[in-house]
Amino acid sequence: MKDKVFNTVVKFMEDNQITCEETIYQSDKVIENAYEFISELFKIIENQIEELQYECDLCGQEYANLPEVCICGGIDCFIKFK
Ligand SMILES: [Zn+2]
Repeated sequence: MKDKVFNTVVKFMEDNQITCEETIYQSDKVIENAYEFISELFKIIENQIEELQYECDLCGQEYANLPEVCICGGIDCFIKFK
């Protein structure tokens, strides 16, 4: 996934002739193409977002959403993201 993100950023920089930070602000082309660029980045990480989960550090129970209390009775024990 990191390679895809890296390659997408490099391609955007090349396509928009970004050679240094200043050229980002100097070219209208950059902001015109930003929507598509962000969309491409989103598509790369979209699946990862859906796989995000919380896991209880005490009993290992997994949750898709952050619960207030774990089934084991633990509170504030949800530390792990996937
Ligand atoms: Zn638990």
